[in-house]
Amino acid sequence: MATGLSKTDANNPRLHFDIYAILEGSQELYFGHEVQVNVNLVETVKLKIKDELSSEPRSMEKCYLSPTKRRGVERRCLIWAPVATGELLGDKQDCGIPKTCAKQECPICSVYGGLEPGQKTLIGRVTHGGGVAVQEMFAVEKQRAMHPSRLASPKDKKDETPIPFKREYNQPGILYPVSNHALSITDKEFAAVAYAFLDALPRIGAGNPKGIAIAESKNQPLLVMDRYLVPKRKRPVISPAITNPEEAIATFERLAQKPENTSSYIQENHFERWIGDAALEKLQEYSSNFVDAILQS
Ligand SMILES: [Zn+2]
Repeated sequence: MATGLSKTDANNPRLHFDIYAILEGSQELYFGHEVQVNVNLVETVKLKIKDELSSEPRSMEKCYLSPTKRRGVERRCLIWAPVATGELLGDKQDCGIPKTCAKQECPICSVYGGLEPGQKTLIGRVTHGGGVAVQEMFAVEKQRAMHPSRLASPKDKKDETPIPFKREYNQPGILYPVSNHALSITDKEFAAVAYAFLDALPRIGAGNPKGIAIAESKNQPLLVMDRYLVPKRKRPVISPAITNPEEAIATFERLAQKPENTSSYIQENHFERWIGDAALEKLQEYSSNFVDAILQS
């Protein structure tokens, strides 16, 4: 089956792009998973790792910033992006959640994909990975006075007795290695991905508080951006078996570039990599291009 994508011109070739980052919760965060009787639980993953001290594998539980949740927030950032005409981008494109427009010309659907039930499907070309916390389970249960859905309203004179409930939170300072991958997209299309990645960071999390930051080491963000045709170099992906934040950061830095190399930009045949501040600047440059070409045009 053909992809259905139209041909690009020679001035706007298709390439692959990757973003790798270690994110850090700057305050407690709630990523909803399931609700038990008056307790909101956070999403976790259970894993078994090889224990160096014993022959038995060790079980552990970790908090999880699921890639699907991150993807949802990114898509929402594009839908809610302000356009110069006074509309939001989603309204301008007649594209929303769950009703996506699935048009190839839509700057949101062209990369995040879309579905018009029974009519057409546009396969998304940006995928999300990672999200398993580095530190072991740190969710802490907190008492909350009343559920927000039960806030008293003066209109209906119902009994609005506050119902106490408990909510778990991922504790601050947890590191989450994440990655975004874009398959066969143009620089113009990747601009939307870069904008969505950066714009989503302060808006991640359910309810309040929200927000996650790119973690730093030696005054540099733990961030890598690749633009390539040939997949080269090591990918800075952190093993879920690592539980020590220092080891995770050192591993990320080692995989991002060879130890003897200190350059923040690597150029090889059909492969480019930006590291740290240079990667952030590059993503910000793409974000500006998105705003100029799509939102302010
Ligand atoms: Zn759309």
